[in-house]
Amino acid sequence: MTKVHFIGAGPGDPELITVKGARLLGEAGVVIYAGSLVDRELVRCHAPQAEVYDSSAMTLEETTAAIAEGVLAGRNVVRLHTGDPSIYGAIQEQMAELDRLGIEYEVVPGVTSAFAAAAALKQELTLPEVSQTVILTRLEGKTPVPERESLREIAQIGATLVIYLSVAMIGRVVEELLQGAYTTGTPAAVVYRASWPDEQILEGTLADIAGKVRDAEIGKQALILVGDVLRARQEGLKARSLLYDKEFSHGCRKGIVT
Ligand code: SAH
Repeated sequence: MTKVHFIGAGPGDPELITVKGARLLGEAGVVIYAGSLVDRELVRCHAPQAEVYDSSAMTLEETTAAIAEGVLAGRNVVRLHTGDPSIYGAIQEQMAELDRLGIEYEVVPGVTSAFAAAAALKQELTLPEVSQTVILTRLEGKTPVPERESLREIAQIGATLVIYLSVAMIGRVVEELLQGAYTTGTPAAVVYRASWPDEQILEGTLADIAGKVRDAEIGKQALILVGDVLRARQEGLKARSLLYDKEFSHGCRKGIVT
């Protein structure tokens, strides 16, 4: 039996799909992709022969039926997701349906938009003595978030935050963050359509980022990044990493003893 591949398409730039993902897409007879976020061009260029479904107007039953029909016909089926399929990808329910039908599948990871946004900002998200933790999260919308993971609670930690699916509620995001370890002086950035030709970057602090988002009329397809790491480029680094420190030895290099 042919296998189904769930593939991460990456954040937008067609060159940011993995080599493996692109190869499998090229071998696909059927492609089901999320048209609201994945570029149609990416599908056309990698899989010109495939029968293509846009899942944005389909139900779980319909996408499962399209996958099952493809598999029964002996065709390679690709379910293409934006970014990485494991982050807000709603793949678990699809895989559960395939388990029920006895259809085998594999998941091929992709570049999640958090990393495309960090790249756009030319920003390391983990800096020594500033933050060594990155939290990928969201504000609750139609999808509920467990109470212990509310932004208010998470904000107690003070780590670097990358907030998905929430830019339309930026006012509430800021309110909740200010109830935790962040202050109005904490740097914040919003990256709209990271890695697409119309990418937009807004930079500010928790005091002014909401106003900037409203002025730019950004209401979707954007990430909010928050944390003191974002200050590094303006204010310089607090500390360098030990990895490249000339006095630090590790498995691949002997440090200089002074
Ligand atoms: N699986 C995807 C996320 C899907 S949820 C991933 O790994 O990136 C959709 C949300 O992801 C959007 O609301 C937005 O917050 C974010 N997103 C997806 N692509 C983006 C991009 N190119 N730039 C900025 N944010 C993006």
